[in-house]
Amino acid sequence: MSILVFLEQRDGKLRSVSREALGEATRLAKQLGGEVVGVCLAAADPGIAALGDAGADRVLLATNPRFARYDGAAYAAGVAQAIQSVSPQVVLIAGSSMGRDLAPRVAARLGVGLASDCTALAVDGAALLASRPVFAGKAFQKLRFPRTPAIATLRPKVFGAVSGAGRTAQVVAFEVTLPASRVTVRDVVAQAGGKVDLTESEIIVSGGRGVKGPEHFKLIEDLAEALGATVGASRAVVDAGWRPHSEQVGQTGKTVSPKLYVAVGISGAIQHLAGMSSSRCIVAINKDPEAPIFKIADYGLVGDLFEVVPALTEAVRKINAHA
Ligand code: FAD
Repeated sequence: MSILVFLEQRDGKLRSVSREALGEATRLAKQLGGEVVGVCLAAADPGIAALGDAGADRVLLATNPRFARYDGAAYAAGVAQAIQSVSPQVVLIAGSSMGRDLAPRVAARLGVGLASDCTALAVDGAALLASRPVFAGKAFQKLRFPRTPAIATLRPKVFGAVSGAGRTAQVVAFEVTLPASRVTVRDVVAQAGGKVDLTESEIIVSGGRGVKGPEHFKLIEDLAEALGATVGASRAVVDAGWRPHSEQVGQTGKTVSPKLYVAVGISGAIQHLAGMSSSRCIVAINKDPEAPIFKIADYGLVGDLFEVVPALTEAVRKINAHA
């Protein structure tokens, strides 16, 4: 009996979502029994032995130049072969952009079920139960898997990583038989300015149509800078061309679960909530006390953002100066 965790790396660096998946695997392994096995596909070892501390008992490491960048067919072959070799009961993959592409490919190859974007996992007897938001977050669906392995993708930032397991993972070289390449990645254009990926941000300050124009987004950027946050946006402002699509939060944008989400001048349409309602603490700033965003906010500030946001930024800067 074992739980297999796909360890995601980008540019040779392990991503924090891998530690979150290992943390959940460790918790599940306590109930299901068995070991936590990682599988890492990379051009070179990204330092996986250290993942013992994050809960991995053993890591299968497949190194190949084709794994330097994400390649759906090659990665799906690698993970499917790891599953065939380990025969795990459960397979956990981060619900990142990569994981959302990879997991269905793996499930289809093996002809097994997949629960995507899970926000909670539980054990019932020897079976895995997965909870996932549906209908843009209005309801939760609970799934039981009739067959193994049960494959689940985990919403980033929802599951906690563990540390201090105090051991070194056993690293095992793993050979993958790769399919012929059908796609060639000719170029990867990195986001300008080395910005933090929204899905990995601990704090997000998002601006909506209430900000009134791209020139006023400086207010959002200033508050974000003071809080050490990443800037997000509603679809209304992305569609208007005020902000890039990479910043869009919601059903057709990114799904985020930061510790703190500040929604400024955002009404709280269901499609926006779909992407951020699992945030740990939600602060809404809106001049309309009836705005739907207040229904899910932990803290609401009713007021004109052009007055509230600069005052808030100033207050945070003062706290930072004394910290
Ligand atoms: P609005 O709804 O116009 O809200 C602006 C808010 O600003 C209002 O509440 C107003 O009271 C407040 N405001 C105005 N001036 C001030 C001020 N001076 N001070 C304080 N508050 C002020 N939307 C997303 O965000 N993400 C998605 O991924 C997404 N996907 C979609 C997919 C589909 C299929 C569809 C149909 C829609 C989708 N939408 C999405 C769009 C969504 O329905 C809303 O239209 C959008 O979220 C509204 O953006 P908004 O809140 O910025 O603008």
